[in-house]
Amino acid sequence: MRLIMKFGGTSVGDEKCIANVVKIIKESRNAGNEIAVVVSAMTRVTDQLIAIAEEVINGKQKVVLDAFITSIRNRHMRVLEAVAPDYVDEIGEYLDSRLNKLSNILIAIHNLRELTPRSKDYIISFGERLSAPIISAAFRQAGIPSSYMSGGDAGILTDGVHNGATALPESYARIQARVGALLTEQVPVVMGYMGCAADGAVTTFGRSGSDYSGAIVGAGIGADEILIWTDVDGVMTTDPRIIPQARVINTISFLEMMEMSYFGAKVIHPRALIPAMQKNIPVRVKNTFNPNHPGTAIIRESHVDKRVVKAISLIQNSCLIKISGAIMTGKPGIVGEIFAMLAEAGVNVMLISQGSSEMTISMIISREQLEAALTTLAKVKQIGDIREFDFDRNVSVASVVGAGMAGTCGTLGKIFHSLGAAGINVMMLSQRSEVNVSFVIKQEDGIKAIRAIHEEYHLEEEEV
Ligand code: ADP
Ligand code: ASP
Ligand code: MG
Repeated sequence: MRLIMKFGGTSVGDEKCIANVVKIIKESRNAGNEIAVVVSAMTRVTDQLIAIAEEVINGKQKVVLDAFITSIRNRHMRVLEAVAPDYVDEIGEYLDSRLNKLSNILIAIHNLRELTPRSKDYIISFGERLSAPIISAAFRQAGIPSSYMSGGDAGILTDGVHNGATALPESYARIQARVGALLTEQVPVVMGYMGCAADGAVTTFGRSGSDYSGAIVGAGIGADEILIWTDVDGVMTTDPRIIPQARVINTISFLEMMEMSYFGAKVIHPRALIPAMQKNIPVRVKNTFNPNHPGTAIIRESHVDKRVVKAISLIQNSCLIKISGAIMTGKPGIVGEIFAMLAEAGVNVMLISQGSSEMTISMIISREQLEAALTTLAKVKQIGDIREFDFDRNVSVASVVGAGMAGTCGTLGKIFHSLGAAGINVMMLSQRSEVNVSFVIKQEDGIKAIRAIHEEYHLEEEEV
């Protein structure tokens, strides 16, 4: 089989984790598989890169920068020495050249006090630039021929949108030529999270975007399966950090998974499912720390569980905005226009619901985008296109997923009954697709709501 294996930050966080990765690759290769690997930055490194970029632009002194470079160098060198002692000179030299480059860019930003989307994207791609060479060297140390390359060098060509790029379809043939062609000889390690725009700019895919890189490379090499290796046994009925009784789901459809991850199930990035769906490649989520567990298969077909509801996810820290009087202006296309203006201001509307009798539109956005949304709506109000708007910055979105939900009578009734019994008031409801119903509740009710539904449907019990 031809496989793409993506290892997340927690799977490459230190030498012990990387030893597991090496073992997984070795066994799979010995079983006769051809493998390409995509890796994330080591745990927390991307967060640290974002933080330092913000710090230097705010005028923090060079000492901060030097301390940052030293600490990041120490962490990576320590891991390198442990996992690939024979390659310390070669890879150490490469890491130093990267760190030099990073340091120079940060100094330039400090001097100019200007951080453009382009330079920020370049800076935050350094986590993967440092982790991939170490993991590739660990493979060589274990006798597995390997090389490393950036997302751009692997052939990922993007639309140039910083911090949220999309891979262009031309990427696939390029990936086949640059990565696929190597697979009979070696295990190439591709730096996740990034691609390259036509003008040569490094563009990242947004936080957690290495899953998307894995899927793109998988689609490019014509993989039989896309494996997402992480730190839990698979996709679970809800976030196991919220509900410890959460159970691993054996199989879930692309559509169900897309809704789940769109609404907060961090285990896989929603966009990672797009290349997989386009090429109909099954995705499997597995645990690097428990590789014998079969994990979760994400496939095209959907299986209707007798309970109908399969999983529930939660997005906290959201804002509810209510607009009134938009339709009363009588201007055709006004609603579309408002959303276009919000999109232009970088506001991503997660959920919409329209109350016809009161002529109100409610929408959900993330808290970080509230300022931008309010500024835009103030403009819309000034031109007289809406009468009023109002917001609540303390809401959560819970999202129930399960194939067959739309066609099953009583599902909504049952969900709301369990919420009512738990004393939870639903502020807004939206059915985004036939496999999903989402509702908005007060921030403080979020976890209680997840627990109520998980218990109501006995999701901890095996699938039926
Ligand atoms: P990685 O570093 O491998 O990309 P992430 O932290 O991005 O890992 O994603 C894995 C985490 O997602 C898990 O540790 C878990 O806490 C969280 N998670 C949230 N919702 C779910 C879910 N429904 N199923 C499994 N894990 C979930
Ligand atoms: N390193 C990036 C992040 O932390 C991408 C990823 O890990 O998927 O967001
Ligand atoms: Mg992740």
